[in-house]
Amino acid sequence: MALSHLFRSDLPDVEVGGSTVHATVLRHAARLGDKPALVDAATGRTITYRGLATGTERVAAALAARGFGTGDVLALYSPNLPEYAVAAYGAMAAGGIVTGANPMLTADELAEQLADAGARVLVTAPPFLDRALAAAEKAGVAEVVVFGDAAGATSFDTLIDQSAPPPTVVGGELAALPYSSGTTGLPKGVELTHAGMVTNIRQSQAVLEFREDDVVLAVAPFFHAMGFGLVLPCGLAAGATVVTLGRFSLDGFLAAIQEQRVTVTVVVPPIALALAAHPMVADYDLSSLRAIGVGAAPLSAAIELRCAERLGCVTGQGLGITEASALLTVGPLDAPRRGSVGRLVPNTEARIVDPDSGVDLPAGRTGELWVRGPQLMRGYRGRSGATAATIDGDGWLHTGDLCYFDEDGYLYVVDRLKELIKYKGYQVAPAELEHLLLTHPAVADAAVVPRPDPDAGEVPVAHVALRAPATAEELLRYVAARVAPYKRLRAVRLTESVPRSAAGKLLRRVLADGERRDAERS
Ligand code: AMP
Repeated sequence: MALSHLFRSDLPDVEVGGSTVHATVLRHAARLGDKPALVDAATGRTITYRGLATGTERVAAALAARGFGTGDVLALYSPNLPEYAVAAYGAMAAGGIVTGANPMLTADELAEQLADAGARVLVTAPPFLDRALAAAEKAGVAEVVVFGDAAGATSFDTLIDQSAPPPTVVGGELAALPYSSGTTGLPKGVELTHAGMVTNIRQSQAVLEFREDDVVLAVAPFFHAMGFGLVLPCGLAAGATVVTLGRFSLDGFLAAIQEQRVTVTVVVPPIALALAAHPMVADYDLSSLRAIGVGAAPLSAAIELRCAERLGCVTGQGLGITEASALLTVGPLDAPRRGSVGRLVPNTEARIVDPDSGVDLPAGRTGELWVRGPQLMRGYRGRSGATAATIDGDGWLHTGDLCYFDEDGYLYVVDRLKELIKYKGYQVAPAELEHLLLTHPAVADAAVVPRPDPDAGEVPVAHVALRAPATAEELLRYVAARVAPYKRLRAVRLTESVPRSAAGKLLRRVLADGERRDAERS
């Protein structure tokens, strides 16, 4: 094989595996004792490192008493809250696997994830309890637990009130099961191992260098790799204080930085855009910030630069991907290159492969990014075909991202080959919306593609061929009534036919290119 153009991290390797995620985040807990580990930005509610350690043990014991053990799945359907960490690490300490669900999901969408993951317990927050209960019933989940106290579910407080002996756990291999559509099709459960996640925490930390005196603002959601694989565990493993922001509003975000004296945060591009340009930013004292990371979707070099100049702190992008636990490239912090997503984290190799010829390309040439390293997922749960199509026989993960490396090993993301749409960093799977459109009696065929959008990055739009009369507005409403708000179609274009190859494969690219040209003109 022509591997003459192999790219490799030039940082020293970190140790691979050898620990669990919960042990890693609690490694300084005994020493740090009363230091706040987690603080809720909205209420100031605090969990100390000691509280996190005992809470984790008690959740594990309570779950074990219910027969929950190695390989069982606990789902979290909640915004970022301090208790999220206790529930998640408690489940892991009982041998279980954590699947995080976006709290914006509808009850039906949540039920699909719960059923696919085979979740036994669902943990939620009071405002989401009705949907959680409906979904749990539909998916046959045995027990619903609610943070605080609310009628109709087990109270999380009573769960952690009793001290019971910690369970003896035969360590499970898997730690987490986030959902991602990957390069094609519907959302799939991404099997992340303790070894892979722990290694990725070390890989990220080797570059980001979170410190014990840091105050880390966790605005990146814990149901996503950026929150659960990077911000939360790296912050805790460093012994820092993690401030959770459950609901994003620009003023709430800025107030949290000012009031908590936040030093580090990781945000999606729309927040970076606001930091670069919004007048409200000037009303807050953000001088405590020392570093801001941006990821989950593309950000232009110009906005990155404006953000860095306005805040006067280290600002850099990183490329994260659920299938690689979280972070693949970032930094170095002291020498960012604007517009680049940084360099490979330790223990990580990459290739740039011409998608047409399959030939490896050198620095400066654009092709599909393939990566290999100990942080990659084990596979998609129950989907060996999708796994084999994503990680090849030699262990290379085909990312579906079109990228190039410069001569110094900095990576630049140029475009996305895969069909995934990213709305404000959230994954929207075109296949999911196409399937839904096809359940409408008037729809004969449908293709969903991204349209560039100045605020959201991309929005999903549908091209639809009809078999019976219907209006675009009717179809927009039909979808909006059935999906989480961030997945809503922003336009429906009625057309004679949707382009397909001779083999019947949707030619989304043709439509996506058209949307891009059209957006550029308008
Ligand atoms: P997810 O698994 O939801 O984190 O999505 C991963 C995908 O998001 C990547 O394969 C990229 O397409 C995109 N992505 C993540 N970070 C960046 C970034 N910094 N710049 C451009 N695209 C990104």
